[in-house]
Amino acid sequence: MKSHISLLFLMFLPILVFAGSNSKDPSRGFDPDNIDSAANPAKDFYQFAVGNWLKNNPIPDEWSSWGSFEALYESNSKVVKEILESSAANINAPKGSNIQKVGDYYYSGMDTIKIEKDGYAPINSFLKKIADIKTKDELISETAQIHLKVEHPFFWFGASVDGKNSTMMIAQLSQGGLGLPDRDYYTNDDSRSKEIREKYIQYMQNMFRLIGKDEATAKTYAAKVMEIETRLAKASLTNVELRDPVRNYNKMSFDSLKTIAPDFNWAVYFKGLGIKTPPEFDVNQPGFIKEVSRMVKDLPVKDWKPYLTWCVLRGSAPYLSSAFVNEAFNFNGKFLNGSKVLRPRWKRVMGAEDNALGELVGQLYIEKTFPPAAKERARNIVGNLLVSLKERINKLEWMGEDTKKAALVKLAAFTVKIGYPDKWIDFSGVNISRDSYFENDANASEFLAKENLAKIGKLVDKTEWEMHPQTVNAYYEPVRNEIVFPAAILQPPFFNVDADDAVNYGAMGVVIGHEITHGFDDQGRQYDAQGNIKDWWTENDSKQFDERAKTIIDQFNNYVAIDTFHVNGELTQGENIADLGGLNVSFDAFKKTDEFKSGEKINGFTPVQRFFLGWAQVWRENDRDESLKLLIKSDPHSPNKFRVNGPLSNIPEFWDAFNIRQGDPMRRADKDLVKIW
Ligand SMILES: [Zn+2]
Repeated sequence: MKSHISLLFLMFLPILVFAGSNSKDPSRGFDPDNIDSAANPAKDFYQFAVGNWLKNNPIPDEWSSWGSFEALYESNSKVVKEILESSAANINAPKGSNIQKVGDYYYSGMDTIKIEKDGYAPINSFLKKIADIKTKDELISETAQIHLKVEHPFFWFGASVDGKNSTMMIAQLSQGGLGLPDRDYYTNDDSRSKEIREKYIQYMQNMFRLIGKDEATAKTYAAKVMEIETRLAKASLTNVELRDPVRNYNKMSFDSLKTIAPDFNWAVYFKGLGIKTPPEFDVNQPGFIKEVSRMVKDLPVKDWKPYLTWCVLRGSAPYLSSAFVNEAFNFNGKFLNGSKVLRPRWKRVMGAEDNALGELVGQLYIEKTFPPAAKERARNIVGNLLVSLKERINKLEWMGEDTKKAALVKLAAFTVKIGYPDKWIDFSGVNISRDSYFENDANASEFLAKENLAKIGKLVDKTEWEMHPQTVNAYYEPVRNEIVFPAAILQPPFFNVDADDAVNYGAMGVVIGHEITHGFDDQGRQYDAQGNIKDWWTENDSKQFDERAKTIIDQFNNYVAIDTFHVNGELTQGENIADLGGLNVSFDAFKKTDEFKSGEKINGFTPVQRFFLGWAQVWRENDRDESLKLLIKSDPHSPNKFRVNGPLSNIPEFWDAFNIRQGDPMRRADKDLVKIW
């Protein structure tokens, strides 16, 4: 389901897996060998701090980027693999047990003899049903089945926290249904977008040929899909427009939904999902849903068959024979992201399993790896960071007393989740066997979708997590006003029990401060302490915030990532505000440590220098050009280089630490300097 969460970081791989204590990790704290001593920290601090690492760590062929996150993923994967393999080898595991499910899913995904033999037989029943559709109602009924098991044609539908009544779950409808990663690729006229459209059409044609369509039919089908998706894209909000929570919240009754979208038979759709018609809805983008209804009315049934077929094909390709896998990789991996080779099968199956049975896998790993001490230590740092932000809010010069009071109420209400959920999802209702990789995944999808749908109209379950413990990431969820740090991020280079405070505060401390600040970025500040969309700002303070956000937007708009591709300052403002806020808040907390007070150097660097080097180290990363161009369009995070240089150029303590003078690129002129939190 569409989520409100702000992530720390976005990776091409949707799901990551981890291992526990990295006791033999060579990079304790900050490794001075990463430094490019020929680079000038006053010109390009990122290059100075990690330039030598960038030079010595080319991107492995299977990756589109290579940095700290990916390296941690790799080291984790090896341990995860052992557990998946030992579960699969345990043929005596009782039917229905966690080990049986984890093991059999993995076995079915690795059973390439069967998968090759089956070709696209696993989706035959879907293809046949689509071919047999005769009426618009049958079209909608089949759409519901595809939503439950494979992919999301048209839109997203499911339960979500009600943004204006945050103790309750509401039925939510959001724009979707596109095969390309952003709506702009369908509408933009630049050469890269045009090239992407051409290759996408070719990719569709190839896939249609693989299920036995002749060349002419494959062409007609692909053209039809492109026509439908382009219309959906044109009705979709841009990713900048999606940042506005007020605009994207539209509560309405079922009657109102029928009024704005009369030609999509909702009753048939809900029946297909197996649920009662919900009494009310949050229709995130009413204009989009109206267009879906108009399109269902305008286009004859036969035109929809290519579209639904395509949705099933692209959703199921990873679970079919190698012909399908390779076509999908050629477009998504090679062309869009610049990866050179397909990742080994076990890693792909591991990633899919993490999506399908993530909490089951997470449970097995936590049992083996996550030390309670790590949870305690992280909780301490979080506590110190919350105190720092409280002190900073009290001292803010630009904010009035009333807004400060409300901000402090919100801060005090933060929920902090660390490591893993207190309560796990009960997967006993899902059937996993060794027979079919596709079926296993479809069963898990349907199970999770129905679990979600059952929550419509119910109280919010505050123990839920929206990320797995084995995921190297972190998030802030505004409708729950909570910050969440999965076990997997509590490892080097983010968090290192053996490193000095400077490096831990510069890395994990800032990550925590970053997530806390999301509660007060351009989006988060529009939610109150209970997670409701509510304006708790005085008009003047709101204006003051917007002026400062505007400076951040301008600063990042000026960064060029590659060729003529500028960073999108508006799209990335929330993350950039969070990085700058996170650095300032964590630095304040670091100032209270003994290490800061001692001023003692390690490897020739002062504690303050090590704090900022610790931050830079987290973001070391090489990117392929294709990947960078894709992310600049769709990722709300700035490229890593600017996540380091951008905020640091606004921090006087950083200038002092590295002797950066007025006029240097790493130092903003006083008039351009920005401090929000
Ligand atoms: Zn973030």
